[in-house]
Amino acid sequence: MTVIDTSKITRDKGLVVAIDGPAGAGKSTISTRLAEALGYVYIDTGAMYRAVAYLVAQRGLEPNDEVSLKDLCSNLQIDLVATGTGLKVCAMGEDITEQIRTPEITRLTPQVAASSAVRAAMLLMQRKLGESGGVVLEGRDIGTVVFPDADVKFFLSASAEERGRRRYAELQLKGIDADLAQTIAAVRERDQADINRAEAPLKQAPDAVVVDSTQMSIDDVLELMARQVKERQQIRKQKGND
Ligand code: C5P
Repeated sequence: MTVIDTSKITRDKGLVVAIDGPAGAGKSTISTRLAEALGYVYIDTGAMYRAVAYLVAQRGLEPNDEVSLKDLCSNLQIDLVATGTGLKVCAMGEDITEQIRTPEITRLTPQVAASSAVRAAMLLMQRKLGESGGVVLEGRDIGTVVFPDADVKFFLSASAEERGRRRYAELQLKGIDADLAQTIAAVRERDQADINRAEAPLKQAPDAVVVDSTQMSIDDVLELMARQVKERQQIRKQKGND
């Protein structure tokens, strides 16, 4: 695997903003709106892992079969396309935006994301997508592994109960049948899988701004984050003028 020293990359288009945190903390909504407000590109790295999980399911592969996963990753095409109404996710040219959000794919994704081959492939793709800056990347390991020298890092969290409730409401809106207690349990289970995996586990970067959104509105979280980014942009501008 080629390791890119991200600190050597010139970011000509703007800052790299990393937003990590557990499932259901509001990362997608916040990242979308923050990117929009800044005029940055939004990269949903969770959607990329979900796309791989979708291909694993579609091809009947075992999520722990490292040889098959490596083979799958050797010829992988995942595209995130910004549309007026959100992000379109395509794998091997097929639009799978809806398919990657089912409970089945949600359960399978952490297993697939524990694979070294899959993580290595995603790491390269994500660095390439973000290297010139002007990006908001959301995920689990952006500030710790993918862009350890990101200009601004956030760790967005909320209690498991609150995150489960939000996920449940989302599923209901989409007409997907779900049970609240089971949804909260599934959020906890996913947390454990993401926190305890050997490679690139979910954890707070020491220099991340920690935001607990349990009792905050989306607008409040957004305002707090946008302020942090603006301060960083100012510092960079001043440094450029020195
Ligand atoms: O963010 P989202 O809930 O869509 O992510 C789905 C899954 O993808 C996570 O539970 C995690 O297992 C995996 N993931 C990851 N690293 C990332 C983003 C997501 O392992 N940077």
